Amino acid sequence: AFDVLVIGGGPAGAAAAIYAARKGIRTGIAAERFGGQVLDTMAIENFISVSHTEGPKLVSGLEQHVKDYEVDIMNLQKAVGLVPARTPGGLVEVKLENGASLMSRSVILSTGARWRNVNVPGEAEYKNRGVAYCPHCDGPLYKGKRVAVIGGGNSGVEAAIDLAGIVAHVTLIEFDNQLRADAVLQRKLASLPNVAIVTSAMTSEIHGDGSKVIGLSYKDRVSEAVHRLDLDGVFVQIGLVPNTEWLKDSGVALTPRGEIEVDQRGETSIPGVFGAGDATTTPYKQIIIAMGEGAKASLSAFDYLIRLPTA
Ligand code: FAD
Repeated sequence: AFDVLVIGGGPAGAAAAIYAARKGIRTGIAAERFGGQVLDTMAIENFISVSHTEGPKLVSGLEQHVKDYEVDIMNLQKAVGLVPARTPGGLVEVKLENGASLMSRSVILSTGARWRNVNVPGEAEYKNRGVAYCPHCDGPLYKGKRVAVIGGGNSGVEAAIDLAGIVAHVTLIEFDNQLRADAVLQRKLASLPNVAIVTSAMTSEIHGDGSKVIGLSYKDRVSEAVHRLDLDGVFVQIGLVPNTEWLKDSGVALTPRGEIEVDQRGETSIPGVFGAGDATTTPYKQIIIAMGEGAKASLSAFDYLIRLPTA
């Protein structure tokens, strides 16, 4: 059995594994795809102390750093269930898709999240080439340019307000006939001179010139007319979904949105089970935050282990 078993191999999981292994305890990391969302990222310019890097490069750094220690890396392994310890301080079981089970005295859940896609022609093709999902990450790349934000919930309206301070012009596109964001955010958005708000609009296509985004078409759901906007970027803000479906029957407390509830030490509702990164309730989904949370959850797991009678 492991002392610390990390589920998920993104920045949170890699940090958790390194912190655990440095304590000299039996550490394992199981990941469906080592590297996580970072593998899908091109320019990264907010990983503090590194002015510019690229996703795949950062992932190879993560992997190399984990391999510096005695960590059992189980890549391409998907967890499908978790069974809490039957007795206090006992072993937690993690079931894998391949039928095997892993046992550990503590478990760190860091299965991350995925952005919901609009699923229109051009979206997948121009991802990282004008189609973006994270205003904190990619906003500055569009300085002085024209962008659209798809989604009029809190995250879309926050993104539009944020981007309006950087870019030349923002068009906010909402499918419904009204925005769903908090009133205070809607008032703020309406007060900005370089923002246009379009409601009842169904995005139908993201256009590109073969190398980057050049525009977007949407259908007015009332008049059925199709309109085209000339743009340099499209930020999709229709939801970040935590990869926690597999925890539904585990007893680990999740919010209605599926985020793992963690306290300030990274503890979940189940003793010996910790959480870190985008899969949890910790606000602001960023690499540097996920790494910090992974380190913290790992130190909390170590604290838990040294207090066990049999440790
Ligand atoms: P993830 O990176 O999502 O990793 C989750 C891990 O869990 C993966 O290994 C995955 O395969 C695994 N997993 C999932 N389900 C299971 C399962 N059931 N069993 C086993 N393993 C599982 N952040 C920045 O700070 N700067 C940026 O510039 C930036 N740009 C971004 C650009 C894009 C296109 C995207 C999508 C995100 C970007 N982010 C950026 C956000 C950043 O990537 C995330 O905040 C960060 O990766 C979260 O780390 P994590 O370890 O919590 O989760």
